[in-house]
Amino acid sequence: MLDRPTNRPDLPEEIARRRTFAIISHPDAGKTTLTEKFLLYGGAIQMAGQVRAKGEARRTRSDFMQMEKDRGISVSASAMSFDYSGYRYNLVDTPGHSDFSEDTYRTLTAVDAAVMVIDGAKGVESQTQKLFEVCRLRDLPILTFCNKMDRESRDVFEIIDEIQENLAIDVTPASWPIGMGREFIGCYDLLRDRLELMDRADRNKVAASIEISGLDDPKLEQHVPANLLEKFREELEMARELLPPMDPQALRDGTLTPIWFGSAINSFGVKELMEGIAGFGPEPQIQNAEPRKIAPEEPKVTGFVFKVQANMDPKHRDRVAFVRMCSGHFKRGMKLTHVRSKKPMAVSNPVLFLASDRELAEEAWAGDIIGIPNHGQLRIGDALTEGETLRFTGIPSFAPELLQTVRAGDPMKAKHLEKALMQFAEEGAAKVFKPAIGSGFIVGVVGALQFEVLASRIELEYGLPVRFEPSQFTSARWVTGPDKEMDRFINVNKGHIAHDNDGAVVFLTRLQWDIDRVVRDYPELTLSATKELM
Ligand code: GDP
Repeated sequence: MLDRPTNRPDLPEEIARRRTFAIISHPDAGKTTLTEKFLLYGGAIQMAGQVRAKGEARRTRSDFMQMEKDRGISVSASAMSFDYSGYRYNLVDTPGHSDFSEDTYRTLTAVDAAVMVIDGAKGVESQTQKLFEVCRLRDLPILTFCNKMDRESRDVFEIIDEIQENLAIDVTPASWPIGMGREFIGCYDLLRDRLELMDRADRNKVAASIEISGLDDPKLEQHVPANLLEKFREELEMARELLPPMDPQALRDGTLTPIWFGSAINSFGVKELMEGIAGFGPEPQIQNAEPRKIAPEEPKVTGFVFKVQANMDPKHRDRVAFVRMCSGHFKRGMKLTHVRSKKPMAVSNPVLFLASDRELAEEAWAGDIIGIPNHGQLRIGDALTEGETLRFTGIPSFAPELLQTVRAGDPMKAKHLEKALMQFAEEGAAKVFKPAIGSGFIVGVVGALQFEVLASRIELEYGLPVRFEPSQFTSARWVTGPDKEMDRFINVNKGHIAHDNDGAVVFLTRLQWDIDRVVRDYPELTLSATKELM
């Protein structure tokens, strides 16, 4: 294990050893495979392949798990915890589909770092780039894993150049691959001067690791075939000359990413990556909140909901709220204050998604992710505290860019449809507006695919076929202001007024001109394209 360079040597050990991160990647780069290997090393699963296969035995433990099976989506995949070499890793999953997804963006507010997985043959792909930009907005530290080195891949300098160019981040090699494709034998670990050799015969075996004292060490000749050795020595010298060295502070600032090369499917390079996450972390960070920031070592418990997963069982309409713990030492059964409603909430059955099993979370520390089953009280952005009135900031809300009218296939089922839509609105899957005049609902999303996802979920979870149709409106603005001015505005603009799922007033239009007119005619009102979630 590397020494832990830290700017917080004072953190209590339980917090200092936690690493909460997400994986960002383009579909097919190897996120699932890498996750399996993390869990394998974490001792959480006996054999790789279980994340996909979803080991039956552990699924039948409780009804809760049965729900998950019925629903066919994995809740445990939303957040997984595992231990390795003294560290507690919390891996938060980013949803996979390739359309722009708000969910993904919110997930990234719950982590302290991201692992970017790229395919060595493909380099930086579109989805990776998008997700990277979000990490950049939050200055998240990023560690890079260049996967599939066992296959023909691009030239290493070319890959590094592409990352530096396209993502405008410095890259430092943490390891250097030797050979490529069929000739790939392993990597040179630049952080520790070791040779890591890949075992092609046993995919689940940890690589052999040989200590090397510099590029002239005769041991290199013993292990590296002569036809690869010269090229490797040249490349490494060049890399050392041209590329920046590892700088933990630059990594923490999000301006430098270390890159490891490996092959997830061969379990190769994974251990080094995990040690990198442990070593360079970082540990749970200070969270932005109003009226004050929250430090992880504060004694009182705080946390916020960054994701709500509803309808895990179509029969029960239960939800699980995923909470990122920000401070304090949480113990099961604790009474916390639900800040939005100011009501106490006994958290008696929180779940921790330990990869080996889903367990009741007896305790949790800053950095941990716990799931709280509830009946709808907990919404995205909600804060839980021991009484303090806090609002965590920075969970993004997106302006809906596409509006459509939705109707139930069967007009008698309008009430059912309303219920379904409200639920999705709470989950953050869409914005839902009920026009003041007329029937039907207007749904606002950020990416077109979200309409399809919604239609199929409403049908699947509520047994309700629906139709999405073009709406006469193209923009939505939330309107706030003094009561009198609001009344005057609403009365004059009835045909353009709708209410969202919280009852907030929304102005719908298709003309920028309309928006400008309202701004001019009603100087006391504020029009906003997004609604603050936190
Ligand atoms: P995801 O879509 O990012 O979750 O990608 P997966 O983990 O499902 O991997 C996509 C495909 O790439 C699968 O067929 C994997 O077996 C394969 N794959 C993953 N890692 C490697 C690797 O290191 N080498 C090779 N050759 N294939 C890999």
